[in-house]
Amino acid sequence: LFVSFEGVDGVGKTTQAERLRDYASCDGTETVLTREPGGTALGLAIRAMLLHGVRGADGTETGDIGPRAEALLFAADRAQHVSQVIAPVLRRGGVVITDRYLDSSLAYQSGGRELTLDDVRRLNMWAADGVMPRRTYLLDMDPAQSHRRLVHDEDRMEAAGDEFQSRTRRAFLDLAAADPDRFLVIDARGGVDEVWERIREDFDGLRSS
Ligand code: C5P
Ligand code: MG
Repeated sequence: LFVSFEGVDGVGKTTQAERLRDYASCDGTETVLTREPGGTALGLAIRAMLLHGVRGADGTETGDIGPRAEALLFAADRAQHVSQVIAPVLRRGGVVITDRYLDSSLAYQSGGRELTLDDVRRLNMWAADGVMPRRTYLLDMDPAQSHRRLVHDEDRMEAAGDEFQSRTRRAFLDLAAADPDRFLVIDARGGVDEVWERIREDFDGLRSS
C-alpha cells in the first residue's frame, strides 16, 4: 500500500506522516516512511543542491538553478527513490508512506515555476516508472499562514515568494479536484489531532478494502 502526503511548506505533512508510520507498523506490517527530495543517498545530494544552490570549486556560487534543470533534478531524485526504496517495499507487500511525491513536482514546477503541466507529468511518470500512490493526503492551508509555522531559516525553495506559493497551493487543489479517487483534501488549519483522525479513519478503510 502506497500513500503520499502533499501540500505547501509548513502544513504539517511530516508530523502526520510520522503518526501514520507508527500506526501502520503497529501490527508488524513492514512500513517505510520516506520523503522527497532526499529519500536516497543520491537524493540527499540532489536535495542539498536544490535547497542551497551550487558552488564552484573556488567556493563561489554558480548562479541559480533554472526551472527545467530544477524539474529534472526533482525527477532524478524521484527515479532513484522509486527504484531503490518504494518499489522494493511494495513488491514485498509493505506500506510506503512518503512525505511529498510526484504531485509536488506538478504543483511546484508547473503551478509554481510555470512549466507546462503535461511536460512535467510526462517527465515524472517516466522517472517514477508509472508508480503512483493509492491515496494522497493533501493538507491544505493558506501558504501565508503555513509559512509562519516553519521553524528553520528559509532555504532557496521556501524563499520563492507569496505569488509562487499561492500558485502552488492552487495547483495542488486543481490536481485533487481532477482525481477525487486518489486525493483526500484535509483542512490543515485544524489541530494535529483533528487532522490525524481523518487520516486514520481513511487509512483504516484503505487497509480493509
Ligand atoms: O518538504 P521539504 O521541506 O522537504 O521540501 C524541500 C523544499 O523543496 C520545500 O521548500 C518545497 O517547497 C520545495 N519543493 C519544490 N518542488 C518539489 C518538491 C519540493 O519546490 N517538487
Ligand atoms: Mg521545507
